[in-house]
Amino acid sequence: MKFVDLSAQYQAYKQEIDEAMQQVIDTAAFINGPDVRALEEELAAYCGAEHAIACSSGTDALLIPFAAMDLQPEDEVIVPAFTYIASASMISFWGARPVFVDVDEVTFNLDPEAVSKAVTPRTKGIVAVSLFGQCPDLDSLQKIADEHHLWILEDGAQSFGARYHGHCSCSMTDFATTSFFPAKPLGCYGDGGAVFTGDPEMAARMRMFLSHGQEKRYHHAMIGINGRMDTLQAAIVRVKLKHFEEELTSRNAAADYYTRELTGIVETPRIREGDRSTWAQYTIKSARRDRIRTFLQELGVPTAVHYPLPLHHQKAFAYLQDSGPYPVAERLSMEVLSLPMHPFITDEQLAAVVQAVKESLA
Ligand SMILES: *Cc1c(COP(=O)(O)O)cnc(C)c1O
Repeated sequence: MKFVDLSAQYQAYKQEIDEAMQQVIDTAAFINGPDVRALEEELAAYCGAEHAIACSSGTDALLIPFAAMDLQPEDEVIVPAFTYIASASMISFWGARPVFVDVDEVTFNLDPEAVSKAVTPRTKGIVAVSLFGQCPDLDSLQKIADEHHLWILEDGAQSFGARYHGHCSCSMTDFATTSFFPAKPLGCYGDGGAVFTGDPEMAARMRMFLSHGQEKRYHHAMIGINGRMDTLQAAIVRVKLKHFEEELTSRNAAADYYTRELTGIVETPRIREGDRSTWAQYTIKSARRDRIRTFLQELGVPTAVHYPLPLHHQKAFAYLQDSGPYPVAERLSMEVLSLPMHPFITDEQLAAVVQAVKESLA
C-alpha cells in the first residue's frame, strides 16, 4: 500500500500526460511556453482569483509576495507554530521576523484569539496556513487584519481546491500561494507552485521579481530570482487540473469512510459545516499515536507524522529566542498521525487501514 499513489494516477491519465509532455518537447518551448500562461488562466478561473502567477515551488511562492510588498527587516509577520517550515522560513529568509502563534485544537489552523494577542505596532501581516486542506477561520482573521491594517497571505500549499463559506481557497485574501509538489493534492512531476492576488500592481511586481526583476529583456528594475515554472510542469498540471474535481470527490469519499469507521476509536478530523477540505492529509489524533504507527508499519500500512516538531522548537528558529509555550502545537506534534490518502485508494485498502488502526488499540 502507498501513502500517496502517484503511479496509479499516472496510469489513469497516461495518454493525456504523455501527449502534453511530448508536445512541450516537440516545440522546445521549455521556458515560458504557452502552457505556463494557459495554466495561470485556468488556475485563476478555477479558484476565482483575479491573478494567478505560476512559479518554481510553493516555497518560492511564499517569498515572492514579500518582495513585491517590500517587507522590511523590523516587520513582524504572524504565522502558526504548527505548520511546514516553509510557511515561516521565507519570512526569515527575506529578513523579517516570524511571530509564532498557537493553533486551534479542532482545525489545526491559526487561533484568531491568539493572533489578536500577538499583534504589535510592528506587525505587518498574517501567513494563514490552510493546513491539511482546510482553510482557517478567515472571517475572524480578516476582521483582525482590517482592524490593524494587516495583509493576509493564505499558504494554500495543501488546500488549493478547498472551499470556505462557498469561496475557493487562494481567492479570498490579499495574497495566496500554493504548491504543486508531487504529493500535494494538485501536483506536478517535480517542483512547482503559484501565487494569487487581486491586486494588479502586486501581480506585476511579483511577475517581475520571479524573472530577475526584468522589465524588458536585459533591463532589470529590481533584484529578483529565477522563480519561473517549467513549461513541462505546467503542461502536466493542466492535465491533472481537468481531473481535479473528480479527484477531490474521491478524496472526500475516502475521508468520509475513515471518519465513519474511526470516530470514537481515535480523534478524527473535523471540517467546518458547509466547507470542503482537499484532504491533503487525513490526520487522526491519539495519545497512543506511536503505538498505532509502529503497529501499522509492521502490517505494511504507511503513515506519516505531520509535523513532529513545532516551529518554535526548530533549531533554525533558535535565533528568535521564542520557546513558547504553544500548548496546542506541542500536543499536536505528539498526537497527530496521517493515514494513507489519495484519490485512487481502493475500498479494500481503506478497510485494511481501518482494521489495522482498530487492532493496534485492541
Ligand atoms: C508543501 C508546503 C510548502 C512548500 O511547498 P514546496 O512546493 O514544497 O516548496 C509550503 N507550505 C506548506 C503548508 C506546505 O505543505
